[in-house]
Amino acid sequence: MSYEAAAAAGIHRFAIPTPFAVGRVNTYLIEDDPLTLVDSGPNSGRALDELHQRLSERGHSIDDIELILVTHQHIDHIGLVEIVASHSQAEVAAIEAAVPFIENYSEAAADDDRFAMELMVRHGIPEDVSRALGSVSAAFRGWGARANITRVLHAGDTIELRDRTLRVHFRPGHSPSDTVFEDSQRKMLLAGDHLLGHISSNPLIVRPRDGSERPQALVTYMESLRKTREMDLDLILTGHGEPVSDHRSLIDQRFQMHERRKEKLYNLISERPRTAHELCQALWGNIAVTQAYLTLSEVLGHTDLLVNEGRVREVEDDGVVRFVTVK
Ligand SMILES: [Zn+2]
Repeated sequence: MSYEAAAAAGIHRFAIPTPFAVGRVNTYLIEDDPLTLVDSGPNSGRALDELHQRLSERGHSIDDIELILVTHQHIDHIGLVEIVASHSQAEVAAIEAAVPFIENYSEAAADDDRFAMELMVRHGIPEDVSRALGSVSAAFRGWGARANITRVLHAGDTIELRDRTLRVHFRPGHSPSDTVFEDSQRKMLLAGDHLLGHISSNPLIVRPRDGSERPQALVTYMESLRKTREMDLDLILTGHGEPVSDHRSLIDQRFQMHERRKEKLYNLISERPRTAHELCQALWGNIAVTQAYLTLSEVLGHTDLLVNEGRVREVEDDGVVRFVTVK
């Protein structure tokens, strides 16, 4: 199964450029009624030009879009939503969990960054690195933009198009708002970054909205993957890279990778108590500033698994957390 199967179903991939390490982001045009765009690409002139170009190759313009579906709140996916919607008057549909972030983008992103900077320092990342990453993130903020969500989606909702029905499933973990859209008749899933073929999706830790404790992003993500594994699918259209056709074996590979990484971290913690930052360095050596939060999220995801299994606990000293084994 490949893009031919998708194209036969009227779904066309546009790979839109981004300034991020991940490379291009996939948006999808569904030629149906309503004419539907899934995700938008980042907020940049170059991305907008390419979106124009790809649409016109198919005989459409931005003004023709009638519905925009949002897979999750990350800026490479939402950056152009408002521009497309303002040109086309398209309806913008996103899951409930994405609404406060997308509608209050600048403030929410700044709050998330503050939370991330505190979390980094708490887990042993030097303050200058945390501050530097905060500035990098602020500099990139313009690649996203706020948008009005005109149709709030909930898990289990269906979106009726002339030629298909898409069922909405909530699959948080990579972000707090990951949403997948299932065409059960064609066994196709539009999955955003919930599952990617060539790289594992980062379980990014994001500030909890209700001010509660730090969320366990990897634990949440693995629960979501388990649900997707149960689905009967032939083709997954992903937010980056090529489509996935054998989702069960890919998900099994991801679980095995997380299992191996968890045991590796357990062995490192058994040698001596370490901060998450020291664990990152032990796994990956010197980490680029821009990767510091991604790798921290990755390590904390796995220490969460160990803490939940009762094998490791956190010991806080002077505002810095070290992980120790439970004897
Ligand atoms: Zn993403």
